[in-house]
Amino acid sequence: MSRQLKNISGSCLCGEVTFVVSGEVSAFHLCHCTRCRRSTGSAHASNIFTKPENIAWLSGEDKIHRYEHPSAKTFAKQFCAQCGSGLPYINRPGTALVIPAGSLQGDPGVVPEDNIFWDSRAAWYDQGVKAVCCAEYC
Ligand SMILES: [Zn+2]
Ligand SMILES: [Zn+2]
Repeated sequence: MSRQLKNISGSCLCGEVTFVVSGEVSAFHLCHCTRCRRSTGSAHASNIFTKPENIAWLSGEDKIHRYEHPSAKTFAKQFCAQCGSGLPYINRPGTALVIPAGSLQGDPGVVPEDNIFWDSRAAWYDQGVKAVCCAEYC
């Protein structure tokens, strides 16, 4: 399995914020913790971890807002002020760049290695992954 991001482009939904990431991946977690579920509004966060210097912002840096959860040691979130999409951010200790995998275009060439905070997963998650699959709307 590849552990390298090779100049992968990413953006928010509205397209104001764009960036490129590259370099070695140290982890790729699907995180089911309550904070990640709440902040994404979805079943889990899909976070790729790499070194802080492995990002080049191409546009829209002035549109990026950051939220640091007061009662958490490392949890933070960055998002586009215009469309709300999650964006890469450097964690609070400054040791890692955390890239929401859904912000990347196409196949990043790396895959998740685990599901963390599994016991906090949404009550409806297990049934969701078993549910009927449709190419578009069912
Ligand atoms: Zn946006
Ligand atoms: Zn989490």
